[in-house]
Amino acid sequence: MAFPLDRSTTWAYAAGEPGEFSYARTSSPTVAEAERQLGELDGGTALLFASGMAAAAAVVLALLEPGATVALADGAYYGTGVLFDELARWGLRHVEFDQTGPPPGDVQLVWLEAPSNPFLTMPDLEAAASHPARVLVDATAASPVHLRPLEHGSDLVLHSATKALGGHSDLLAGVVVCRDEAIAERLRLFRGRTGSIAAPDVAWLLLRGLATLELRVERQTRTARELVERLRAHPRVEVVRYPGFGGLVSFDVADGETARRVETGTRTIVNATSLGGTQTTIESRHRWEGDRCPPGLLRLSVGLEDAALLWSDLERALDLDS
Ligand code: PLP
Repeated sequence: MAFPLDRSTTWAYAAGEPGEFSYARTSSPTVAEAERQLGELDGGTALLFASGMAAAAAVVLALLEPGATVALADGAYYGTGVLFDELARWGLRHVEFDQTGPPPGDVQLVWLEAPSNPFLTMPDLEAAASHPARVLVDATAASPVHLRPLEHGSDLVLHSATKALGGHSDLLAGVVVCRDEAIAERLRLFRGRTGSIAAPDVAWLLLRGLATLELRVERQTRTARELVERLRAHPRVEVVRYPGFGGLVSFDVADGETARRVETGTRTIVNATSLGGTQTTIESRHRWEGDRCPPGLLRLSVGLEDAALLWSDLERALDLDS
């Protein structure tokens, strides 16, 4: 049965008293149902935000004090570092560290990414869990199908629900899943006060996406493994990064010029940003991330198309000569 979409922004009081839902900036039935399902997927209390970055901003602004330092995984989604730079004016500091080892001391929040996008390293969750600071894992690329960080001692999980959770490249949303109910309540208050909740329509689309999450991610993993094997054997591919699961792969060709030829040379695979959708996409990340990303690095987000079709498309683009 499809969960009903309720677009109301306000609900009638019962006998002069507000009920569970009163004003949609605080919560709404469709958002609450999406949160119930997201909470089950990660094993905690989930809160839905207007985007992944709105969720990230809420975490640092609501849970840290001015002057606090975040230990941010080296090579994590570049937008996270950009957000922290933006908030430096408000006294937020961050230091980067190699997440495959223990986090540095004297930080108030540890921010990991599993796997990091687009370098695809996996964090040492156990080492982070023994750090005294709270630990957040951005598990956007793994999805709860492959990783449930709260079971590894993390305190918070963040997803850009825009990616695999929504899964169809037609919604923008973010989620934070909390182990601790008091932290969830603090974030819920902050979200209501700052107005960064997701809209009911978005929550409804997300519910539709969640119904097929496991099927989609398993299929993407199967196809990605096949493509990774073939990429590793291709003479023009110098490095292939893949954690062994999920649909996100990155690989290096010789230089920026070759990368451009490949990303513009595919026909089935779309030259576009983002990840986790039904359609396979490819893009050079150097255009966004500058020097921290090799000019020859291509990020591939594997969708649901036939694996043989995808490989013939990629192989043809890789074999193009200037
Ligand atoms: N975290 C990761 C790992 C991402 O890849 C992204 C977006 O690409 C975000 C967070 C930000 O999410 P959103 O675009 O929904 O704000």
